[in-house]
Amino acid sequence: MSQLPNLEDLGDISGKRVLVRTDFNVPLDNGIIRDDLRIREAIPTLKYLVDNGAEVTTCTHLGRPKGKFEEKYSLDPVRVRLNEILPGIKLLDNLRFNPGEESNDPRFIEQLVSGQDIYVNDAFGASHRNHASITGPPQLLPSAAGRLLQNEVEILLQIRNKPKRPFVAILGGSKVSDKLGVIDALIQVVDKLLIGGGMCFTFLKAQGQQIGSSLLEEGQIDYCKELLASGAPIVLPHDFTAMDSDGKIGDPAAGGIVRQMGNNIPDGWTGLDIGPGSAAVFGDIIQESKTVLWNGPMGVFEDTRFSAGTKHVAQSMAENKASFTVIGGGDSAAAAKEFKFNTEIDHVSTGGGASLELIEKGTLPGIDALLSNH
Ligand code: AMP
Repeated sequence: MSQLPNLEDLGDISGKRVLVRTDFNVPLDNGIIRDDLRIREAIPTLKYLVDNGAEVTTCTHLGRPKGKFEEKYSLDPVRVRLNEILPGIKLLDNLRFNPGEESNDPRFIEQLVSGQDIYVNDAFGASHRNHASITGPPQLLPSAAGRLLQNEVEILLQIRNKPKRPFVAILGGSKVSDKLGVIDALIQVVDKLLIGGGMCFTFLKAQGQQIGSSLLEEGQIDYCKELLASGAPIVLPHDFTAMDSDGKIGDPAAGGIVRQMGNNIPDGWTGLDIGPGSAAVFGDIIQESKTVLWNGPMGVFEDTRFSAGTKHVAQSMAENKASFTVIGGGDSAAAAKEFKFNTEIDHVSTGGGASLELIEKGTLPGIDALLSNH
């Protein structure tokens, strides 16, 4: 990829009006921000612009409003927090209150850039979307990547293109079908691919194992079979923490039996975490690696009965100081934070979907827009 235009490439910005696309899609509980990381991460870019005399307006989406105002997606709490950290920055309304954002409507793009001189994209977590605020403004205004976008792209492309070896990737989460593209891309570059979470059961089924009532994507069994037969360096769990049909996820008080199981999970039982043996094997492989990329929990970590595998992966990454460790956003970033290992990880990406797509394709629509209009 040629060089992304950065803030310095904009030259003298004194007195210029700059529109910054940020990703302030923060987790909210009844209007209270649970984690303001995404706001804090955008500050270096905003501060550079303000310090160099620009008049800054930011814009972001929050949640999934359907093209019209919805009180619960109001940006007021974000506006208050932003003003506490860095006063004097204007923040437009939630972009997704306008249907033109997701439909990439040229009229909405015109509206966004009207009165602006320069556009900066610092919304890594939204740069895999071909939405108006991401791919529109670079066609009309001099544009650059902000610090956060630039940093994410450099780090993720570095491990994609020139990883220190051994390079291990760990994938989890619920669905194989969500990760087909990234599995295909990773298999070309990793030394080992460890698969846990709900998605491992379709692979185990493809191997002919019994998986009881564990998550299964029938439609992906053939894909998994082919991949395993190709000799791809995939490591699957060999033991599990499972629950019987009387139990309820997220509700230990409901009863049911939870126990460790070996290779085969009988009918009536559901595998909800990798077992301690598999966690130890995964941990050993992580300890021996020089580059580690992790996306997706190893089990239903939101329920503490099924969080041990995810915690062990996070801890092994945190303890491997000789390795460059990266968490690809989303649930795994939330898990690492919950277990307090996040500060020991070299890079925790702010974008789940975006980081996987960047690893898969080597670029994103938001990056292409900055490059092709440069
Ligand atoms: P994803 O949205 O694909 O990143 O998957 C994250 C979700 O997968 C989390 O909410 C986990 O609770 C869930 N998950 C992980 N392991 C399992 C499993 N063995 N069975 C069901 N769900 C799982």
